Amino acid sequence: MEYILLTGGAGYIGSHTALELVNAGFNVISFDNYSNSSTEALNRVQQLTDKKIISIEGDIRDPEALRQLFTHYKVTAVVHFAGLKAVGESTQYPLHYYDNNVTGTVTLCQVMREFKIKKLVFSSSATVYGDAKQVPIPETTPRSATNPYGQSKLMIEHILEDLVAAEPDWAISLLRYFNPVGAHHSGRIGEDPNGIPNNLMPFISQVAVGKRDQLSVFGNNYPTPDGTGVRDYIHVVDLALGHVKALQYLNKNNGITAINLGTGVGYSVLDMVNAFSQVNKVAVPYQIVPRRPGDIATCYAQPDKAATLLGWRAEKTLEDMVRDSWHWQSTNPNGYN
Ligand code: NAD
Ligand code: UDP
Repeated sequence: MEYILLTGGAGYIGSHTALELVNAGFNVISFDNYSNSSTEALNRVQQLTDKKIISIEGDIRDPEALRQLFTHYKVTAVVHFAGLKAVGESTQYPLHYYDNNVTGTVTLCQVMREFKIKKLVFSSSATVYGDAKQVPIPETTPRSATNPYGQSKLMIEHILEDLVAAEPDWAISLLRYFNPVGAHHSGRIGEDPNGIPNNLMPFISQVAVGKRDQLSVFGNNYPTPDGTGVRDYIHVVDLALGHVKALQYLNKNNGITAINLGTGVGYSVLDMVNAFSQVNKVAVPYQIVPRRPGDIATCYAQPDKAATLLGWRAEKTLEDMVRDSWHWQSTNPNGYN
């Protein structure tokens, strides 16, 4: 039997992608050290499908664990989600971030190479565009980073580009995600951040469910229609389906390609708050506070390359995003605990 390996498969995006991959007929193995997730996420995924999902606990920085896995299972491609993603934390613990994200990716690729596995989908981010001068943002936009997390993503992109330049039989997709939100429509899996959420949507959800008093809106004096920051929010199930398409693309195309996964539409913080409260009929009290250092005004994708190369476009609406976020949060007020 042939398998797709998902590093970080128990995480927010990994768990949703595991489900869409099995729905599309792939056999899936998750390899996760559970540093930012729980085993319960994949138990829930397993309840949503008849097909067996194999989950293995391990760290991508451990080459022996990866060798064991590739010896036991015939893996044909890797979808590489494993990584740390909190911007603020990355500025406090840069070495930990570079070790986990960059060293981890190098180790993973070295062991893949030993086993002649040369298909890789990498979780990159719109953060590699830094503060882009123009929106919508095409993949050709110059890249930069403003914090160690973003720098780690940018370094990995460069490392993978060098790898493909040296060994053109690799097939690699750099998927640059915009802002993933929402949850599976079943309400059984979703985003379960540790501690105080950094991201907007989980914060809104926790205010709505009564876990936090109010949302702090970081600045209302940006050069945007209502003064609050504008982002390209993408439903996590749309994002997951983008990975299915990327794997199919890698079966036919060698080389390395960067592809935006976004909707191409920007919504402001207040758009998100208003949609959430109107669709779900729940109050989301907020106050305006000063800007968060490092935030940019506006960021949304030029999404056409994904349509042309992968035959993929985001299909879910803002209403789907806020409804599914709330369904997950209201039926699992304490996440997976
Ligand atoms: P997540 O934290 O929910 O999932 C990441 C998973 O990787 C977790 O289950 C964690 O336990 C695991 N992991 C971390 N380090 C590991 C290691 N050394 N070995 C094995 N497993 C390890 O995050 P997510 O939101 O699902 O993000 C997945 C990927 O997408 C990350 O690489 C992230 O940087 C990237 N990304 C996320 C966003 C976002 O807003 N969620 C945006 C752009 C890019
Ligand atoms: N934001 C906010 N309050 C919060 C979290 C986020 O006002 O508690 C704003 C933030 O300033 C940005 C948008 O919401 O304009 C999206 O922030 P998030 O951290 O989710 O994503 P990113 O900044 O990484 O795009």
